[in-house]
Amino acid sequence: MSGNSYPLEPQAVEFGAPPPFVRLPDVSNLFAKRSERFVQLASTRQPAGFFLLLSHLAKAQHRALEELTSLPMPTASYLEYCRENRLAPFAPDMFKPDTAWLSVLSRVLDELSRQDLTADASSAVRRARQLDRAVLQAWGSAIVRGIYEPVDRQVAPFIFGALQVYWAKLASQLEAEKISRLNAPGDCPVCGCPPVAGRILAEGQFRGNRYLWCNLCATQWHLVRIKCSNCESTEGIAYYSIEGQNQAIKAETCEKCKTYLKLMYLEQDVNLDPVADDTGSYALDLMLSEQGYHRRTPVSFLFAAPE
Ligand SMILES: [Zn+2]
Ligand SMILES: [Zn+2]
Repeated sequence: MSGNSYPLEPQAVEFGAPPPFVRLPDVSNLFAKRSERFVQLASTRQPAGFFLLLSHLAKAQHRALEELTSLPMPTASYLEYCRENRLAPFAPDMFKPDTAWLSVLSRVLDELSRQDLTADASSAVRRARQLDRAVLQAWGSAIVRGIYEPVDRQVAPFIFGALQVYWAKLASQLEAEKISRLNAPGDCPVCGCPPVAGRILAEGQFRGNRYLWCNLCATQWHLVRIKCSNCESTEGIAYYSIEGQNQAIKAETCEKCKTYLKLMYLEQDVNLDPVADDTGSYALDLMLSEQGYHRRTPVSFLFAAPE
């Protein structure tokens, strides 16, 4: 392996009182911050146009979210049933989104059509605007289950982007103390999706704690460190980064199940965004896949990158 390996994670101690299990998304600036981060990454990553498109998408997500009014919620008894049975209330297999997500998508596409995009991206926005609702519903339903094969590759980021807005809004309307850990502690307790990355927080009471980040609903949930988020093994865990690249991002690998999860150390780099920096650190994914490791979620938006 060409990267740096760390046999044991540095600074692995968690401090103080037990941290809150769940941190629900702060929808006021989630996507605005991500947009800024994609702009920063575009200055050092290739193709720059792709990172700029993703910054425009995140800005459009921010605007759509600002205009989204409260979404209808399931009944209190449904939420209580989920809590008691350790089920994720907004798992795509249990919960059907209402058509508000299609309005979010229209808003995102309107916003993108006003931006100065590449010819390919403009063409993808036009194609997306012409699709009928049944196709969009079918593709949206596939994407939230992690299935991308039937979907127009360049249109998929817009659909996924709209679904992220919708699910983050839903999650933000929950009460954190009524959410229980799932039997699979590596899965999002709100929507059941696997994490896109883990973050080691730097601020106040959370300092040194690891929170996993949901790619769909942007909920964060606590998981102790030096533990595989997929199979829960605490043995055979190692950490890798690439020489000459951002050392604040490391991959936590598991020898037992051969998966890995990227960890982002905010104390070393406060600007890291779990989704933007996942896309921006795909060189680490290339290195790990060459070594036979795999991850549970695709690298964020990479399926839409120009070949
Ligand atoms: Zn989630
Ligand atoms: Zn494992």
